[in-house]
Amino acid sequence: MNQFTRFDLPLCMVVEEDVFSHVDETIAGYLPEIRGKKTIIATDNFLRTNYADTLNEISSDFGDAEIYEVADATYDIAAALAKYICMNGIKVIIGFGGGKVLDTAKYAAYVSKAVYISLPTTLSNDSLASPFAVLEMENGGRMTLSCKIPTGILVDTKVIAAAPKSQMLSGIGDTIGKYTAVYDWKLAAKDAGTPIDDFAYSIAWMCYDSVAHCDETDLDSPELVRILSRALVMGGLAMEIAGSSKPSSGSEHLFAHAIEEYHPELRISHGLAVALGCVGAAMFQGRDERKIIDVCKKFGLNLDPAAYGIDKDLFAELWMRAPETRPDRVTILSKSSIDRAWLDQVYERMQG
Ligand SMILES: [Zn+2]
Repeated sequence: MNQFTRFDLPLCMVVEEDVFSHVDETIAGYLPEIRGKKTIIATDNFLRTNYADTLNEISSDFGDAEIYEVADATYDIAAALAKYICMNGIKVIIGFGGGKVLDTAKYAAYVSKAVYISLPTTLSNDSLASPFAVLEMENGGRMTLSCKIPTGILVDTKVIAAAPKSQMLSGIGDTIGKYTAVYDWKLAAKDAGTPIDDFAYSIAWMCYDSVAHCDETDLDSPELVRILSRALVMGGLAMEIAGSSKPSSGSEHLFAHAIEEYHPELRISHGLAVALGCVGAAMFQGRDERKIIDVCKKFGLNLDPAAYGIDKDLFAELWMRAPETRPDRVTILSKSSIDRAWLDQVYERMQG
């Protein structure tokens, strides 16, 4: 970082088939100074079993790095990992996994000042490159905590293609949420009388456009994996440049948070919850919700709330409680009266 910049960018960003089979050479090309530094690999039990060979190879390439299992994305687990890193003189942490592992590893790296390398195994949301970690607190609530973006991001298209397709759909949902997030960001800036960062704004729109206008709709295709991984990474960078999650998170995310925080039993992935919120958010904003519906249809992302166990009553409750999930965030919901009859219309619109 120099005196003219307020943000960091990853030094290494590779999206390639089989890159997980030569992580050390790839990283060493960009970050030769980490060679020989004590390293730890954070992953979960499922991946440790299913990617044993890959993980063992990465471990031996990084000086027999310890493989550390994280059970969940909680503040306590991330803090314990940070403490372990500090106590043992570890300088590099590699996060190998989905959103939960990556958020835990990212926060532990931030606290312990270790170099953080992100190796996502799914594209389910933008945690692979964002400067924030979502962690569960002692009271069961979740907090979005500021941290640093990864120093290196390696996406193996073969590993992503092997993950369940629902994960790709979730990543698509998190990306199209920018359609309504950037609108709310502008609205909040106007309200506060402050300018927004035009460069971050353009990047966020570009992320949305790259997925919305993508002709490749086969979730297995390496081309779509490449486009989506770059969109998610660039979405993370937009947040880093803006110094806020606002380029990626508006009223559609408040709706998703209401699902995640008040009705976790629905077990709807983050990105799908964002896509469900995006239709209503676009309608609240008085914008063309057909764009969102058409993009979701194109990729086979079902927007019918009933398919996820949400009836009209619950749908209305989620929207009514959405603003209280982040009371300090100004969005279209701060300017709207949230009326039941209107919400029923939104619900019916989503049923097609
Ligand atoms: Zn999100």
